[in-house]
Amino acid sequence: MILENYSSDKRATKLVVLNSNLVVVGGGLSGVCAAITAARAGLKVVLIQDRPVLGGNASSEVRLWSLGATSHMGNNNRWSREGGLINEILLENLKRNKEGNPLIFDTVLLEKVYEEKNITLLLNTAVYEVEKGDDKKIKSVTSFCSQNSTTYTATAPLFCDASGDGIVAFMSGASFRMGAESKEEFDEGFAPNLEDYGNLLGHSLYFYTKDLGRPVSYTAPSFAIKNAEELPRIKNYQLGDHGCKLWWVEHGGRLDTIHQSEDIKFELWKVVYGIWDYVKNSGKYPEAANLTLEWVGTIPGKRESRRFEGDYMLAQKDIVEQRDHYDAVAFGGWAMDLHPADGIYSKHNSCTQWHGKGVYSIPYRCYYSKDLDNLFLAGRIISASHVAFGSSRVMLTCAHGAQAVGKAASICLEQNCLPRDLSTKEKIKELQLALNRDGQSIPRLEIPDNEDLVQQAVVGTSSTFQFKGFNPGNDWQTLTFGTAQLLPLKADEYYSFEFELEAEEGTSVEVQLKTSIACTHFTPDHVIDSQIFQLKKGKQKLVFQTTKAQKTEHYAYCCIMKNEKVKVRLSDERVTGLMTVQNKVNKAVSNYGRQDPPAEIAVDSFEFWTPERRPAGKNLALTLDRPIAAFGADNLLNGQLRPESHGKTNAWVAAMDDETPEVKLKWETPVDLKTIKLFFDCDFDHALETTLMGHPEEVIPFVVADYRIKDGSGNILKEVTGNYQAINTIELEKVTRTDSLTFEFAKKEENIPVSLFKISVY
Ligand SMILES: Cc1cc2nc3c(=O)[nH]c(=O)nc-3n(C[C@H](O)[C@H](O)[C@H](O)COP(=O)(O)OP(=O)(O)OC[C@H]3O[C@@H](n4cnc5c(N)ncnc54)[C@H](O)[C@@H]3O)c2cc1C
Repeated sequence: MILENYSSDKRATKLVVLNSNLVVVGGGLSGVCAAITAARAGLKVVLIQDRPVLGGNASSEVRLWSLGATSHMGNNNRWSREGGLINEILLENLKRNKEGNPLIFDTVLLEKVYEEKNITLLLNTAVYEVEKGDDKKIKSVTSFCSQNSTTYTATAPLFCDASGDGIVAFMSGASFRMGAESKEEFDEGFAPNLEDYGNLLGHSLYFYTKDLGRPVSYTAPSFAIKNAEELPRIKNYQLGDHGCKLWWVEHGGRLDTIHQSEDIKFELWKVVYGIWDYVKNSGKYPEAANLTLEWVGTIPGKRESRRFEGDYMLAQKDIVEQRDHYDAVAFGGWAMDLHPADGIYSKHNSCTQWHGKGVYSIPYRCYYSKDLDNLFLAGRIISASHVAFGSSRVMLTCAHGAQAVGKAASICLEQNCLPRDLSTKEKIKELQLALNRDGQSIPRLEIPDNEDLVQQAVVGTSSTFQFKGFNPGNDWQTLTFGTAQLLPLKADEYYSFEFELEAEEGTSVEVQLKTSIACTHFTPDHVIDSQIFQLKKGKQKLVFQTTKAQKTEHYAYCCIMKNEKVKVRLSDERVTGLMTVQNKVNKAVSNYGRQDPPAEIAVDSFEFWTPERRPAGKNLALTLDRPIAAFGADNLLNGQLRPESHGKTNAWVAAMDDETPEVKLKWETPVDLKTIKLFFDCDFDHALETTLMGHPEEVIPFVVADYRIKDGSGNILKEVTGNYQAINTIELEKVTRTDSLTFEFAKKEENIPVSLFKISVY
C-alpha cells in the first residue's frame, strides 16, 4: 500500500531522461519513415507521438489514404510510386490489407516500428517544451504522457520535427511562414488571391456509415447545423460515400489553424452531424433508411499550418519546370492542389489542382532549418512556398523525403557533422548514393556505386525477352477513349504496328504516334506521326507503318484515337516496362482529359493519358515488324529501378517461355561477398492507397516469389519462397568467397515473364 501524507510542496510527475542519437517528434508517415530509416542505419532513435497510434493523417483516427506522385493513377507520372521504406510499408499493407481497413494499416506501421530495436517509441506523449544548448542548437525536448503520468526529457545531438505544426521548430525559434506568399516573391502564377480565395487550407473530418439491414432512426445532437441543404457542397454528397471521399467537408482556412484547431473541429462536428441529420431526416434519401453512423472522426485532418524555412524554398517553378537540383534527395508528383479557405462554405470549387508534366525533385536543403544547426524538418512543414506545399504535402511525398532525413541523420552522426554540412556538392553524393542503394530512385540522378561488386562481373542470362508484340487474348475494348500502347522506341527508327479492330459499321479511325518533347516526363505532348484508316464493318487487321521517327530514344505512345463504334483486341500478357494508357477523365484528381490553365497561372496545358487499374489496363494485341530489344541483362548494372521516360525499361526480362530463368554473375577472380540485394518489379505505376480504396491483388504480379542463389561451387547460399517485396536484402552468415553467383528464379504467372531491375553485391 502507498500512503503519502499531505505535502505543502508541489509534487513533480515521474521524470525519465532518454539519451539517443536522434529524436523524432511526430509519428505520422514522415516521422515513422525518418525514425525507421535512421534506426536501420544503427542510430538510437526516440520517436515521440502525441496520439495512441502511429500514422498521423493516415492513421485510423483520421483515415486518409496516403498518396503521392502516382496521384490515384490520374496523371502522366508513369512508374512514379515512391520507393524505399515507404514502398516496403505499402507492399506489406497490400499483402495484409488489400481492402484498405485503416485499423490494419495502424498495425502494419506499429509492427514496423516495434521490430526496430533501436527505436524507443513513446505513444500518447506530447512534446511541449524545448531546451536549447546554445542559440543555434537544440539540447532536449520535454514531453508528457498522460496515460502513465510520466514526463520524458529526450536529449540527442540531432532532432527531426515531423509534428505537422512544427512544435519543436517553432519553440526553438526557427523562421517560419503561415499563409500564402505573394505572386511576386517566387514568381508563382498560381499564388492565390488572399481576399477571395484565401490563405490557408482548412481541416476536414470524416464519417463512416454502415447498413444494418433494418431501419434505423437518427436524432441529431442539438449542436448539429440545421441547414445542411444550404451548404454549397452538399451536392457533392452521394449516399455511401464515407472516409476520404468526404475530403470536401473542410473548414478553418480563415482561422488560426493551430490555436483555433479545436474550434475548427467543433464546427466540423456540427457540419458532419448536420449532414447526417439531413440525409436521415430530410426525406431526400429514402435509401438511407437502414444506414447508421459507424464512426465519426474525433481528430480532424489538418492540412496546413506553419512551413519552416530551410536553405532552399521549393516553389512553383521547381515543380512546373521539373528543375533538377544538385542536392535532390526525394521527388514529388501530386498536383499543386490548393483549396478555398472558406472550405465547405465556399462558392469556389472544393479544390484547384494543376498538374506538372512529370515528377519534380526536392532538394535536401528543404529538409533542415536554416536557423537551427541540428534540426531536420520532415512532412508538411518542409521549406516550400504555399503553392509548392500544395503538392509536397501529400503523405507519400512527405514519407519519401523523411527517408532522406533519416539517412542524412545517420551520416551526420557517423561523420560528426550537422545537417547543413551534407548540403555541399561533394557531401551530398554520399547521401544520394546511400538513398538510392535503398531504392529511393532520385529522378534523373546517376551516381556510380563503385563498391557494388556487380560492376566488375560479367552477367549472363538464360534468356532475354525480345518484344515482337502481344499475343491476342479473348477480350476486346471499345474505343470510348483514345487508347495507347506505351513502348520504348529508338531514335530515327521506323516501325510497323499491326492491331486487330472490330467496327460496328463502316467508319474511320485515327492512329497517332506521340512522344514527349522533353526527356524528363511521360506527357505525350508531341505528335510524331498521324494516319487515318478507313474501316469496314466487322473484324480486320490495321497496320500502322510509321513514316516519321522520333529524334531521340524515348518512350512513345502508339495511340488509337477514340471511336465508340470500334473495338480493339487486347492481350492477357503483361511485361515489365510495357503498359497501356487512355486519354480518360479522372475527376478525383481534376483530370478532365486535358488541363488548360489560364495563361497567368504559368502552368502547362496538356493531355492526360492515364492507366487503368488491374485487372483492366490490359496491353493491346499487337504485332511488330521486328523486335524491340529493350530488356537486356545490361539493365541490371545501370543502377535504375524503374522505367524512365528516355526510353529505358531498366529491367532485364526473361523470355516469356522461360520457366526457370537464370542470371549468372561471373568474376575473373574470386570476390568476397556478404550482402546481396535484389530489386524486383513491384509495379511503381500502380497507386497503393492505404485506406478505403481496395486493390485487386495481395501481391504485385510482377514480383518474383521463389528463387535460389548458388555460389560458384553450386552451394545454395539462399532459398526464398513467397516473396512479395520489391527489395530483398540477403545478409549471408559469413563472408563468402566465390567467382560466380547463379540466381535461379521460378516463373509465377503464365502470362508474365520473370524480370529484375538490379542486383547488388557487397
Ligand atoms: C482532409 C485532408 C485530406 C488530405 N488528403 C490527402 C490524401 O488524400 N492523401 C495524402 O497523401 N495526403 C493528403 N493530405 C495531406 C496529408 O495528410 C498531410 O499533409 C500529411 O499528413 C502531413 O504529414 P506529416 O507527417 O507532416 O503530418 P501528420 O500526418 O499530421 O503527422 C504528424 C504527427 O505528429 C503528431 N504530433 C503533433 N504535435 C505533436 C507533439 N507536440 N508531440 C508529439 N507528436 C505530435 C501528430 O499527432 C501526428 O500524428 C490531406 C490532408 C487533409 C487534412
